[in-house]
Amino acid sequence: MKDIRLTALDPVGPRRTIVPVGPVRIGEQFALIAGPCSVESEDALLATARAVKAAGANILRGGVFKPRTSPYAFQGLGFRGLRILADVGREVGLPVVTEVLDPRDAAWVAESADMLQVGARNMQNFALLREVGRVGKPVLLKRGMHATLAEWLNCAEYILAEGNANVVLCERGVRSLETYTRNTLDLSIVPAARETTHLPVVVDPSHGTGRVSLIEPMSLAAVAAGADGLMIEVHWKPEEALSDREQAMPTDAFAEAARRILAFRRFMDTLCAR
Ligand code: PEP
Ligand code: MN
Repeated sequence: MKDIRLTALDPVGPRRTIVPVGPVRIGEQFALIAGPCSVESEDALLATARAVKAAGANILRGGVFKPRTSPYAFQGLGFRGLRILADVGREVGLPVVTEVLDPRDAAWVAESADMLQVGARNMQNFALLREVGRVGKPVLLKRGMHATLAEWLNCAEYILAEGNANVVLCERGVRSLETYTRNTLDLSIVPAARETTHLPVVVDPSHGTGRVSLIEPMSLAAVAAGADGLMIEVHWKPEEALSDREQAMPTDAFAEAARRILAFRRFMDTLCAR
């Protein structure tokens, strides 16, 4: 790490970047990002969005372009999904984040989304990084499933180099020899990224574990590790979810978990001056 000089690395010590997403100031306020893996219909999204907002979420997620392992799996609703996401976000009063897969989509998606997500599979898609940098909306940059910290930060730097300072890093698990969990959530990267950069770091325990039962414990652990937020997949009827059904948290379980996670974060705030 010593030989790379990034503006993503903190040159001046304790200064931290605050990334505004709608009214939420990530880095200053805890970001609880929640919603379904994919936008499926207006009714389904509205039901989930109302529930996560009532539980304390402050940003709504929902994929409209889904990077699926199989080309025959549900690929997302595209433009129609984005309209639904933006309408529902407005109706419930939550800013929205959605993934962009193709650099050609970045500009028009940015007209309706408050934050653009670059997914793990695209972390090193340099054309996409440059484009989301140019478009200027806040970016949620997921860590690639095989990426080192230095590789991840260099990808953040691609966005910063285009003049877009609003980058939030998101740890979502890396590949390991373990098969019980979908990925291995690397929580050591949270303090590591926070001590080497001024960017906020959030954690996605849904893709990080692939198991609903592990989401709350790993969320609490992420808060203990200093995460600036969490991204959790929630569905009002998990058994009907069109993608990532097995890791979709039911809305009532999310409400319970969110109560404890937010209380634990408040407790951590009293212990540590941030
Ligand atoms: C997602 O958050 O919808 C997603 C596809 O995640 P990842 O890129 O981390 O696999
Ligand atoms: Mn998913």
